[in-house]
Amino acid sequence: MLRAVGASPCEVRRPADLDGLDGIVLPGGESTTMGKLLRIFDLLAPLQDLVASGLPTYGTCAGMILLAAEVVDGRHDQELLGGLDITVRRNAFGSQVHSFEEDLTVTGVGDIHGVFIRAPWVERAGPSVDVLASVGEHPVAVQQGHLLATSFHPELTGSPAMHRYFVDTVMGDRGGQQ
Ligand code: GLN
Repeated sequence: MLRAVGASPCEVRRPADLDGLDGIVLPGGESTTMGKLLRIFDLLAPLQDLVASGLPTYGTCAGMILLAAEVVDGRHDQELLGGLDITVRRNAFGSQVHSFEEDLTVTGVGDIHGVFIRAPWVERAGPSVDVLASVGEHPVAVQQGHLLATSFHPELTGSPAMHRYFVDTVMGDRGGQQ
């Protein structure tokens, strides 16, 4: 998806891989495991610093949880990157069998199809956070300047619209300021 919108992505596995990035995508997965792995591989503190210092960052699903300032229904020892002034509820829509797909209108992006897999929702959004889309009354796409987060997995549909928004608008506006 990132290649489709003109970016040149690489995988980040070690702290040295963080050098020279214009932006980063934190993918879905399992946020407590991702937090442990970030610590074990010495990525937690450097990524926290980069996110805090303005690196354009897009968190999807578990990635949204990692970016959140606070988590409800997380593990007591769950590691977070923080930076995004939201409280997320983990597994908010229910368990794996309650995964679903829904058409959404995302402000700044347009109409897209959202795939929600054991997804979180945003329970609280601070004053500097823009809500870009909701399911019912629950925000599922938010932006706070250089930080973008969605509860859903945009990479599982045919549309690169969310990635285009991240690369062209979020990174486009902020990427040059590193
Ligand atoms: N439920 C997962 C978690 O807590 C997130 C699921 C996903 O990324 N699809 O991290």
